[in-house]
Amino acid sequence: MTKYHSTLSRREFLKTLGLGGTGAGLSALLPHIGNSSVRDLDELMALPIASIQRPSWVKTAEKPTVEIDWPQVQRFDYHNVMWASGLRRALGNEQYDKVFIDARVNRRLWISENRPGSRLQDVALKEANHWAPISFLGPQTSPTPESLQVPRYEGTAEENGRLITAFMRLHGASHVGFVELEAGTTEQLIYAYDTGIGEAQGPRLDITDSDFPLDKTAEGFRVIPRKARWVIVYTMRMADELMKRPITEVGDRSHYYMYNLKSLLQGQLQNFLRTLGYMCLGEASNFNALGVHTGFAVMAGIGEMCRIGHVITPEYGIQQRVQMVITDLPLPPGRPVDFGVMNFCRTCKKCADYCPARAINPATEPTWDNGGLFYRATGIKRWWLNEPLCNAYIRRVNGCATCFAVCPFSKRHNMSYNEVFRRSVATNPVLNRFWRRADDFFFGDGIHGDANKFWDMDLPPWGYD
Ligand code: SF4
Ligand code: SF4
Repeated sequence: MTKYHSTLSRREFLKTLGLGGTGAGLSALLPHIGNSSVRDLDELMALPIASIQRPSWVKTAEKPTVEIDWPQVQRFDYHNVMWASGLRRALGNEQYDKVFIDARVNRRLWISENRPGSRLQDVALKEANHWAPISFLGPQTSPTPESLQVPRYEGTAEENGRLITAFMRLHGASHVGFVELEAGTTEQLIYAYDTGIGEAQGPRLDITDSDFPLDKTAEGFRVIPRKARWVIVYTMRMADELMKRPITEVGDRSHYYMYNLKSLLQGQLQNFLRTLGYMCLGEASNFNALGVHTGFAVMAGIGEMCRIGHVITPEYGIQQRVQMVITDLPLPPGRPVDFGVMNFCRTCKKCADYCPARAINPATEPTWDNGGLFYRATGIKRWWLNEPLCNAYIRRVNGCATCFAVCPFSKRHNMSYNEVFRRSVATNPVLNRFWRRADDFFFGDGIHGDANKFWDMDLPPWGYD
């Protein structure tokens, strides 16, 4: 049996996890990786699933294409975002309460009118959420090296990167990237205060020299040991056919089911790292927590930031959710990528043209000026959304994401048109204006017509291929 820097081999480790170590065991679990001879994690790590091959037109860059003035970046208080207390503070109590009255009235009306994508069966789809318990410290139900009486797993950063990538992709992640936390730069992307319940202020996130993490939420703080230096940032794809039906309950499901999956996946990753002998500090929310997901995805080289502040990836455009955890397992930091997105956004502006709330800034150039608004980050040059307008609209109509649906990067990833378009944007920006016009000509608003037809489609698992 192959040993690997430790008396705990990967095969033994797999057995410990109950995944077996035989060809039949792992291969049976992995029919989708198309290899019948995978016997253990060493062999799994040698497969393409353990690394992400980028198209040749994706260039790595010294700095992200979105400009960041690190000395100006303050650790952000999650309490200020629209999904926490930000919307109420921005609108005032009366307007805030009205948003939710409108949402209930709209939902009832649209069910009774059988509005496509907003009928009772569509509401049932959107509300079919089921969450696994999720926490900062994780489920802690897997064995530890101490309980197994073996040394912890050891590998080089590169080997560890492949191990984590294989594990994450096996369990549903699309991209996996790594960021090293450095004081004054990437550490600033960790929230100063984590998410709380509802609109409540969340606990302070202290980064200290402690040996162990602490979750003292009741006392108002959590501790991230400084030795937990690596962020694992990962994405989960959203189904095109859901996402292309915005302002419907069907369309909104495209986000929620990925958050459902995240709640399961995070706990699995935390248990995996626990048995390896490492900490894994997770998000205590099913949605966003712990740090700025977009910022970490950009720094890891998963994608570029775009006009609406989300991440666009070379493979799946804007069609993914981004999540993160922090660990002390050494990992190879990624580098930002440049495949022309920021430049294309300067010309395109399609999301701004179609935003029903007029919340997207149509200016050609991004700006450092955040207007001094409490719900905006500092030290980043970007196109600022009118966040209260956007968020109130989303809540009123029970889900929007029109900007996702119309974006020229929201095409089926395996369309031949897509390959030509993305390669051109990455290598020949002089054609960007042409590509916006081509997108209008071939795809119009990009929205897939009658939302009811979604139910008659013969969809692949997860809704994408
Ligand atoms: S989610 Fe809707 S309202 Fe918000 S920015 Fe996108 S298109 Fe506009
Ligand atoms: S629609 Fe155009 S401007 Fe908006 S995010 Fe997509 S590429 Fe950028």
